[in-house]
Amino acid sequence: MSRAIYWFRNDLRLEDNEGLTKAASENREVLPVYVLDSRWLEGKQFGIDRTGPFRMKFLLESLKDLKSQLQSVGSDLLFLIGNPVEQITSVYRQHNCSRVYAQELSSYEEHTDELTLSSNVSVEFIWGETLYHKEDLSFTLADLPGVFTQFRKSVEKKVQIRPLVEAPLQINSPQGFGTDFPGLEELGYDCPQPDERTVLDFRGGSKTALQRLDYYLWERELLSTYKNTRNGFIGGDYSSKFSPWLAVGAISPRQIYWQVKKYEKYVKKNSSTYWLVFELLWRDYFHFVARKYGKLIFQRSGITGEEKIQWGSAQHFDLWANGLTREPLVDANMRELNATGFMSNRGRQIVASYLMHTMKIDWRLGAAYFEKMLIDYDPCSNYGNWMYIAGVGNDPRGGREFNLSHQKESYDPQGKYQELWA
Ligand SMILES: Cc1cc2nc3c(=O)[nH]c(=O)nc-3n(C[C@H](O)[C@H](O)[C@H](O)COP(=O)(O)OP(=O)(O)OC[C@H]3O[C@@H](n4cnc5c(N)ncnc54)[C@H](O)[C@@H]3O)c2cc1C
Repeated sequence: MSRAIYWFRNDLRLEDNEGLTKAASENREVLPVYVLDSRWLEGKQFGIDRTGPFRMKFLLESLKDLKSQLQSVGSDLLFLIGNPVEQITSVYRQHNCSRVYAQELSSYEEHTDELTLSSNVSVEFIWGETLYHKEDLSFTLADLPGVFTQFRKSVEKKVQIRPLVEAPLQINSPQGFGTDFPGLEELGYDCPQPDERTVLDFRGGSKTALQRLDYYLWERELLSTYKNTRNGFIGGDYSSKFSPWLAVGAISPRQIYWQVKKYEKYVKKNSSTYWLVFELLWRDYFHFVARKYGKLIFQRSGITGEEKIQWGSAQHFDLWANGLTREPLVDANMRELNATGFMSNRGRQIVASYLMHTMKIDWRLGAAYFEKMLIDYDPCSNYGNWMYIAGVGNDPRGGREFNLSHQKESYDPQGKYQELWA
């Protein structure tokens, strides 16, 4: 029996966390560690910071919740800032650990860290980011279908979703190793001001994730109408808003899935209940795409290598980013993002299409801006969707240009949303 590190990454929860449960059952002592990646704090892309205040605030709240959950099972959380590989290696040596357990991630930078860490220490990575388990897929990643529909049909037909993994009842850890973590200001951020127009007062943590799940399914039964409302712009109820919690792993897609199944059994089963799972499959798909294509998803020519748009100058990028294009629906969405860290799926499609197809600005600037601003930023979903609209990803039609008049007529016919953010 031994001492191990559990390295928390995008899996800030105890429930349905296979790696954590495994670490706790296989070792005498476990040290839960989180490393705030200094590249997120210091890094810039195209002059744009990698992490803005909304996501950092949400992350710190999620960590606080995780720490108190760990304390409730006899453990604690060691919080560090730096290069994750260096920090984990150093804790490993300092505390005489014999193994590191961690969730395996799909995106390039994180996967590269996994390979580097594996050459330093004994480590086991456990899959857990997606609804369908990577090892259960009916094809190898090299044969991942290039079109979502083929992927979806294949997994729906051939693959079972695994049951939930129970949280460890107890985690034995060395006394007094836990640390406090800094506030937002200490990390150099101004605390975002609340805006009453926000769709939701997002608070990080698995407790609030489960409350949101409870609200959306059981309290208000909003799941029954999700397919009809999901293209909305205003308020908390038009879509689930699960994305920020999914991004940090405060909730797993399987936890959502099994609640949907229960809802279908006891409340209602219809096209809306199916559609929420359908959307989670998009998330899965972009995770597998990211894992298959590595750093290609961050390149302008994407995974196809063939650019469809004649790119122009980026000199008016700030007009787009600041919601000053004078195109009211685009501006309203960007203002919402800047004031709250959130934007609807419909809005994201509209502003992305406008940036690249109308302004002819390199889509990667938009993606980098989303990376900074979105409270729910997830590299795979973000870059996967941007590539898709740019026609360098998985769109069989070679990209999407959204007609703004049509979008306004269909989704904001009375201009209420544009007025809200005018
Ligand atoms: C340009 C662009 C960038 C995006 N960047 C991100 C991102 O960084 N992080 C992120 O989580 N989502 C991203 N999305 C996908 C989608 O817009 C958000 O997941 C969704 O708006 C979040 O709100 P919700 O949780 O209420 O979604 P719901 O409509 O309630 O959907 C439920 C869940 O399904 C998943 N989902 C829904 N639509 C998509 C989609 N198109 N792609 C992948 N997963 C999806 C999400 O996990 C979401 O939480 C992006 C979409 C576009 C067009």
